[in-house]
Amino acid sequence: MDPDKKPHRFTTRLVRAASDADPATGAIAPPIHLSTTFEHGPGGEDLHGFTYIRESNPTQERLQEALANVEGGQSSLVFASGLAAASAFLQAMPQGGHVVVQRDLYHGVKEIVHRFLPRWGMTYTEVDPRSLGEVESAMEPSTCLVWIETPSNPLLQIVDLAAVAQIAHRHGAELMVDGTFASPALQRPLEHGADVVMHSTTKYLGGHSDVQGGALILADDSRHGDDLRDIRKILGGVSSPFNDWLVLRGLRTLGCRMERHGANAMALARWLAEHPKVERVYYPGLPDHPGHDVARRQMSAFGGMVSFTVVGGRQGAVTMASHLRLFSNATSLGGVESLLEHRASSEGPETTTPQNLLRASIGLEDPADLIADLEQALDR
Ligand SMILES: *Cc1c(COP(=O)(O)O)cnc(C)c1O
Repeated sequence: MDPDKKPHRFTTRLVRAASDADPATGAIAPPIHLSTTFEHGPGGEDLHGFTYIRESNPTQERLQEALANVEGGQSSLVFASGLAAASAFLQAMPQGGHVVVQRDLYHGVKEIVHRFLPRWGMTYTEVDPRSLGEVESAMEPSTCLVWIETPSNPLLQIVDLAAVAQIAHRHGAELMVDGTFASPALQRPLEHGADVVMHSTTKYLGGHSDVQGGALILADDSRHGDDLRDIRKILGGVSSPFNDWLVLRGLRTLGCRMERHGANAMALARWLAEHPKVERVYYPGLPDHPGHDVARRQMSAFGGMVSFTVVGGRQGAVTMASHLRLFSNATSLGGVESLLEHRASSEGPETTTPQNLLRASIGLEDPADLIADLEQALDR
């Protein structure tokens, strides 16, 4: 970018970051380069900046430039999935390192922590980072990383980013934030002191339930950038150019979509909170949510995810889910269509999620139709 030009405002960057016309053709929509290999000189000389698809490729570079721009990071790396991004970052940590992780965490990241950190010679402590004292007392001399998720999955816990970043840094550790639920449209953790942000781009960034991907955005590329690019190249968790292209396409409409997801979720959360068969609603936009004030400080809106518990225990929740007509019973989140899931069933026998909890990904439909669907299902 021309250094004399004032950087554009955030919404403009969502739409236009890394949107230069294709230099070869002038195409405005970005090209998808599917080539696995790139011409080099007879002695292996670099001619065009690319060698082999697993190392780097033009479509991936365009997406990475856009993501680094919108999150406010120095660099970004994209991966085949959110979990490929998560595991790559953990593999960049030193052997013998200790990691402090949030207890209410996406269950796949928890599985990496429980099953693979010990294999990699690392240790961990689980905490509730809403209590800063718990984070503080979990820090050890070998702690290299604090890993949090806010809002968290599936309990929508809100963690104070700036406060946890201070604790991590005071102990010489880094702060990693899984920002999948908020997306960069609503929350940019690097602005609050985090060192790295992770996204499952499968969710809001892709936005249409048709692409899998993951991303890391680094505040300071000199810390782990080269190592992470090596890990991705050598261990192979790369994304395909077509998937990178779909995520970039999703990024262009992220701002508009998140506005509507949030407005719909707020309407549904308010309605659910008044329903006699609903015990509790977990949505940070409700003023009685314990993290509401922190969320207002660090998020520009509260997102499209709503969890709630219903009367009648597990059976009550499953019965409700079985009568939905517009919501689809499906896992995942962040697409245009509304989804609902009995989360304990999906997380399996070791789940700590309440058995009567339902997690909803509120889509872009008319909120009156969504409320009508929940109403007829709750009445059964
Ligand atoms: C889905 C999800 C992941 C994992 O991402 P995949 O793309 O499914 O590998 C990680 N964190 C959160 C919060 C998620 O929702």
